[in-house]
Amino acid sequence: MQGERLEKETPEQVYRRVFRELKPRTAPPPVLVQYRRFANVNSFIEFKEGRLLVRISDLLQRAPESVQEALAWILLCKLFRRRIPARHRDRYRRYLNEDEVTRAVERLRHERGRKSILPPAGEHHDLLRVFDELNFRFFHGLMSQPVIGWSQTESRNILGHYDAAHNAIVLSRILDREEAPALVVEYVMYHEMLHLRHPVERRAGRRCIHTAEFRKAEEEFPGFEQARNWMETVLWRLPRRA
Ligand SMILES: [Zn+2]
Repeated sequence: MQGERLEKETPEQVYRRVFRELKPRTAPPPVLVQYRRFANVNSFIEFKEGRLLVRISDLLQRAPESVQEALAWILLCKLFRRRIPARHRDRYRRYLNEDEVTRAVERLRHERGRKSILPPAGEHHDLLRVFDELNFRFFHGLMSQPVIGWSQTESRNILGHYDAAHNAIVLSRILDREEAPALVVEYVMYHEMLHLRHPVERRAGRRCIHTAEFRKAEEEFPGFEQARNWMETVLWRLPRRA
């Protein structure tokens, strides 16, 4: 059967078409769609230098056309603060929930998440040794070792965090200095290890991260007061590293 040959739209054409549907009276600006290596299935849209810049996780590059279309609706509706049509929202959500996609996302988060962490052996403190020692002292050596490392940036507000998606404990590189007492590094590590031990609870729909039980365990750390005191005073006086 002879039929009209349907040209496959480029991603840019998809965005311009959806733009026209949402804003029939505005001429759509030039569109640039980029697939980027994000550590997650994130996508962003913004007006930049007279064009619409769309950055999409490369994980979605091979997604079916209906999913690309759904994402275009989602991003443009967000940009214009419109309600996202249910069929597009559902199509996108269903795709992300497909087993194969879920696994690919997990794998990618794992691989890429790791790369942003510096190795645990710092200049002044070795986080693996700290972990092992605390594991032995407080957890009977039973805690399985997560990915451990220093952050790239020297944050003073966030001295450590446990990232469940990557199963990683990351300490702020500001603590990898001579002036940072071993006690403080140990305390921050201990706090993050407690997150492994006490998973996040849900209470009345809210995520409860530091439960009463967690707080109690934390206060059992010898030198708790001393460590907190250093974090509230000396930490803020440390000079920036050259
Ligand atoms: Zn915490």
